[in-house]
Amino acid sequence: MGHGFVENLSFLWDCILELIYCGDEKCILCKSDLYNDRYICKSCKNNIKICKDSFKIGKGCHQFKCYSSSYYSGSMMELIIKLKYKSSFRSGNVIASYMKDTIHSNDISFDVLTYVPMTKKSFKKRGYNQSEYLAKTLGKYFRKPVVSCLTKIKDTKDQIGLNEKERWNNIEGSFKVFDNHFINDKSVLLVDDVITTGATVFYCSLELLKSGAKKVDILTGAKSRV
Ligand SMILES: [Zn+2]
Repeated sequence: MGHGFVENLSFLWDCILELIYCGDEKCILCKSDLYNDRYICKSCKNNIKICKDSFKIGKGCHQFKCYSSSYYSGSMMELIIKLKYKSSFRSGNVIASYMKDTIHSNDISFDVLTYVPMTKKSFKKRGYNQSEYLAKTLGKYFRKPVVSCLTKIKDTKDQIGLNEKERWNNIEGSFKVFDNHFINDKSVLLVDDVITTGATVFYCSLELLKSGAKKVDILTGAKSRV
């Protein structure tokens, strides 16, 4: 199966559905009728708790600025689960539109976008990387390149049942930059769907910085605990 095959196929399917149901659209979450809204209805939208403030993710002398569009609850949690486990790229479009608003309202500047990678095994199993989909959607909005430069070299243990320190240790050494050509001396915006402890995005950002990136900021659709 070629790279992004499932992603392309599902996107095509979404487009076909949109043509069929044009003018008779239902909310992708609660299935109620949509009037002037796109993909989700007003009451599902009201269920999204926007996160306005940026925060820092750090360890040792490295600190990265992190933005999350909303809290991981209500409709946003449903959208992320649908994108991640049900190949719902329409949910991905809704999440990306919130991320776009976060970029605008915080005036985040960047040269290139990249995303948190999956192991080859996980990618094969899912058929797409949800963070890559979000980054590519944002790349289209902002007309910025989306660079594939990180790789996940270690299959991390399930984080459930681990304390904070164990979670960080579990992730350390899992990511590497395999090609720094397009990030060298660039401001990079690292995209992920959800931030929990921050260990994943921290180690990805650190690798980007060590590989020549000028600056790394982080943007996630939602934040769960930090
Ligand atoms: Zn709804």
